[in-house]
Amino acid sequence: MVKTTVSLIKADIGSFPGHSRIHPQLLEKAQKMLSEAEGKVLTDSFVTHCGDDLELLMTHTKGVDSPEIHKLAWTVFTECAALAKKMKLYGAGQDILSDAFSGNVKGMGPGVAEMEFEERGSDPLLCFMADKTEPGAWNFYLYKVFADPFNTSGLVIDPGMHEGFIFEVHDVVEKRRIMFRTPEESYSLLVYIGAPSRYVVKHVFRKDGLIAASTSTQRLSLIAGKYVGKDDPVMMIRAQSGLPAVGEVIEPFATPIIVAGWMRGSHHGPFMPVGLCDANCTRFDGPPRVICLGFQVANGKLIGPVDMFDDVAFDRVRSRCNELADILRAHGPFEPHRLSLSEMEYTTLPGVEKELKHRWEKIPE
Ligand SMILES: [Mg+2]
Repeated sequence: MVKTTVSLIKADIGSFPGHSRIHPQLLEKAQKMLSEAEGKVLTDSFVTHCGDDLELLMTHTKGVDSPEIHKLAWTVFTECAALAKKMKLYGAGQDILSDAFSGNVKGMGPGVAEMEFEERGSDPLLCFMADKTEPGAWNFYLYKVFADPFNTSGLVIDPGMHEGFIFEVHDVVEKRRIMFRTPEESYSLLVYIGAPSRYVVKHVFRKDGLIAASTSTQRLSLIAGKYVGKDDPVMMIRAQSGLPAVGEVIEPFATPIIVAGWMRGSHHGPFMPVGLCDANCTRFDGPPRVICLGFQVANGKLIGPVDMFDDVAFDRVRSRCNELADILRAHGPFEPHRLSLSEMEYTTLPGVEKELKHRWEKIPE
């Protein structure tokens, strides 16, 4: 049976005004380029945005890390960046960290989440896209969805997932990985993923090897060595039939949590689930936002999307996020609103410190 691959690849290639949203002309151009590739390298495609990030969702049969698919995404990003430059959009070409394509967009700026699988009788797919935060922001939700029975009752009452799941965790600093089995190693897993600036859940598998979730783990600051924008991650989760139900996958987003990112990628803020109509960053260039588009995958075709957070059921978490935003904003330049010093290493702060360095003198004994 032919396997289906789903690739969700994103980049910030310019926005307006400032860092708030993608210009409609860029969305149009990207969708046109992907539509032209349908029937050739692609089976289906869907283009959208979250804040200032251009999101390319593509289905095909070429497997993960396909040079052809990555090349297509790279071409879309570079051509859209050229248009953004012409329009003098803000940060045009921001996530294009290299001039020449080398076979894979990983390490070149864009964020990538991919999954290859044999389609089940029915295959619901939830695509999450975030702006103004970092890849580790998904850790909390992935734990809740796949390892917390207080969120996912299926872990207790569905024989198909009663055995639990396997989490693949990446250390984005040391560039190494480790597998944890839940529920038996839940506490060990939490040791690491509770520190989301460094440890990021990359994939989740069922114990029989079936792939259930995939995220982007690129950290732009670690790639570029200096502040070039936040990583604004994406994530895909398959649902139902021996996996968490769609409702169990989106349920943890009803709880407001605080993530790193927001203004200048240097602040903690509430992670607000919004419908597409609100996927634009405004207040203090935020607050950090997440959208969720739901699809059914049918022979590689994407049936959808359904805008999952565009719903009154998520009104309350949005209002709680706004309250948290008020509280954190009141801190101004103070921690814990501003990130800790170790996390500020890759921002513009070292430049300020450099200027003041010569004014420090030793305190007499
Ligand atoms: Mg962004």
